[in-house]
Amino acid sequence: FTVLGIETSCDETAAAVVRGTASGPGEILSNVIRSQVSEHAEFGGVVPEIAARAHIEILDGIVAAAMKDAEVGWNDIDAVAATAGPGLIGGVIVGLLTARAIAAAASKPLVAVNHLEGHALTARLTDGLDFPYLLLLVSGGHTQFLMVNGVGDYRRLGTTIDDAIGEAFDKTAKLLGLPYPGGPAVEAAAMSGNPSRFPLPRPLLDRPGTDMSFAGLKTAVRTAAYNAAPLSDRAVSDLCAAFQQAVADVVHEKGRRALDIFCEHHPDQPPVLVVAGGVAANSAIREKLAELARETGVRLVAPPHALCTDNAAMIGWVGVERLRLGPVDDSRVGPRPRWPLDASAQSVLGSGR
Ligand code: ATP
Ligand code: MG
Ligand code: FE
Repeated sequence: FTVLGIETSCDETAAAVVRGTASGPGEILSNVIRSQVSEHAEFGGVVPEIAARAHIEILDGIVAAAMKDAEVGWNDIDAVAATAGPGLIGGVIVGLLTARAIAAAASKPLVAVNHLEGHALTARLTDGLDFPYLLLLVSGGHTQFLMVNGVGDYRRLGTTIDDAIGEAFDKTAKLLGLPYPGGPAVEAAAMSGNPSRFPLPRPLLDRPGTDMSFAGLKTAVRTAAYNAAPLSDRAVSDLCAAFQQAVADVVHEKGRRALDIFCEHHPDQPPVLVVAGGVAANSAIREKLAELARETGVRLVAPPHALCTDNAAMIGWVGVERLRLGPVDDSRVGPRPRWPLDASAQSVLGSGR
């Protein structure tokens, strides 16, 4: 199957063509991404209205570039897949309606994709991973452990009860005067920092279970920054290192517990831990997960950075996965600002809100 994927749920306008046979990993024929970082930088975050306008202006060209890079024509593709949520509603509408129009004009089926399912299945595109596996989804809007049992079969084992990790990185960057997007900026500053100078909490580690919390951690950074003001570059680096270390420690311990639950449900398989989403690009967090994998003898799969952050290849790939299961017709599915993964794919025509 060859599928054109379209992603517009946040501040990346992206289109890609991916191909997959009946099983095994996929092939990325093209992967075009235009980040809107420069449009949003002066506001210190994504401005939904600006994002939607930018998507409208450039999406046609991005799709054309993806088709050209892949050297395919409309007759060569089997479906058009687009993010239908969750995300900023203006952008989602632009991408989904564009995909619907292309699908109708080319007489191809439309696949309405849950953006999180794209992150969740990326490891199957890159590594041909078999089900089941334990997924740590860490992105700008989500932080959760999911048992991925099959396409459309996701069970949430634990989640953040407040901020997502990416969000905590972005807010921490902002309060320390670092540029948007915050994740890479905090990671870069942390590189030369001393993680022990500022003691920060490890929220919820003293409580049982796999739920997490990061809002308090961000507030602790704010308090420490206030007490250390005026902040030297050194202090900013040390705060970033301490923050990053605290997040990594929480992920390490909660990951261990999630693995225990996963193994209880799947005692006969060697467990695999997959990390996905934009925060999976963070080296300190990756390193902690690698440590956990070594300690527990679990295989860790972490897709390359460019496929961890938002992209359309992962959306096209969900299209491939859905086509593998049989004919698809999502032409009636509407855009959804909220769309939890564990309550989703199979009931794609439900109300969704
Ligand atoms: P969602 O997928 O939940 O809808 P999103 O699509 O906005 O949210 P992604 O694009 O998957 O999220 O990830 C973006 C997030 O990843 C941002 O919060 C960004 O700061 C964070 N991020 C990116 N690179 C790094 C890094 N090196 N270290 C930490 N965080 C990072
Ligand atoms: Mg983004
Ligand atoms: Fe994302």
